[in-house]
Amino acid sequence: MLVLVINSGSSSLKYQVRETDTEELLTKGIIDRIGDVVPDHAAALEELAGRLREELDGRSIDAVGHRVVHGGERFSEPVLINNEIVRSIERLSPLAPLHNPASAMGIRAVHDKWPKIPQVAVFDTAFHRTLPERAWHYALPNTLYRRYGIRRYGFHGTSYGYVAPTAARFLGIDPARFNAVIAHLGNGASVAAIRNGKSIDTSMGFTPLEGLVMGTRSGDVDPSILIFLARQGYDADTLDDLLNRESGLRALAGESDMRSIETAAEQGDERSRLALDVAAYRLAKYIGAYHVAVGGAQAVVFTAGIGENGWKFRQLVLDQLGPLGIRLDSEANLVTGKQARRISTEDSAIPALVVPTDEEEAIAEATAAVVGNLEQEPVF
Ligand code: ADP
Repeated sequence: MLVLVINSGSSSLKYQVRETDTEELLTKGIIDRIGDVVPDHAAALEELAGRLREELDGRSIDAVGHRVVHGGERFSEPVLINNEIVRSIERLSPLAPLHNPASAMGIRAVHDKWPKIPQVAVFDTAFHRTLPERAWHYALPNTLYRRYGIRRYGFHGTSYGYVAPTAARFLGIDPARFNAVIAHLGNGASVAAIRNGKSIDTSMGFTPLEGLVMGTRSGDVDPSILIFLARQGYDADTLDDLLNRESGLRALAGESDMRSIETAAEQGDERSRLALDVAAYRLAKYIGAYHVAVGGAQAVVFTAGIGENGWKFRQLVLDQLGPLGIRLDSEANLVTGKQARRISTEDSAIPALVVPTDEEEAIAEATAAVVGNLEQEPVF
């Protein structure tokens, strides 16, 4: 099946075309400056259709899979999209004001262009629908949950849903019986506690701001800081910018890209060293906590840009996990590549792994599975 995977943002549309039988990537690209050079998502789709005509040698797309950030409490699985599903994605916009409206626009543009092609929504929150209430319920008055849906949702679910079974199979463990702590470390970063193959806790919460130190996000802070700043005259937009775009590694090191920070730290830059220290310490604490949450992890797994490539950062984290009996194999830690691999010593009490993620592949597979099971022509 030829699946077009779309990640639709407010000003850009990223795409890949995957042949799901062979897992082959046929083409990929980005159409950006939507709302500027490209007038809207419909125009972006026209541009995309033109590119695909050239790049796919006349082969046509069988299905479209969309990455949708927020599925709220409703969506725990990928779903075939119809009009009611798009409206539901739009209704969840208050929870993901930048992302969900853009996904809905992408979906509608595809429908207008290719009304007959089935579309599937794959939600970033869905994998965390198995969180028990004790993990998702904030200790806040319940009216906030009822009125605004304020609870922990978790993100990066598509990645965890792909990496968890891959790691289990790598170790020869049944994915349904796998307990692990997985760290997805990209520009946005989170950790997930996996018990019997399911997510039982994760560090991102109501929004992707909670948890780890990220490229430009603070992660956990004392919420009183916001109250204090509000009293100093900071308004909501300023606080949003402060916590989401001006904090994290950027605030600590003056730079959000891990490669540059590692290089600067090596050259003796104290701020960069501190940034790495704060971020690694936070992650090490979460791993310790989630080892307890899952009842003893069978693996600690690193994935995404930093998790897969940042060997120095991995070392900083794993060196703190001695009390769990984890021992890093410094040489194995230097291996690069797209294959799953072990980076701990043979006598490490818990194996540490690097397992590259592939969210587009996961979306393509999920889309093919939903569309392959259709018993009749879908009605939008
Ligand atoms: P996104 O969340 O945007 O998908 P990625 O998963 O691509 O992000 O991760 C981006 C992060 O990975 C950046 O901080 C980048 O510096 C880091 N990264 C990529 N390659 C390396 C590397 N070789 N060493 C250290 N960090 C790396």
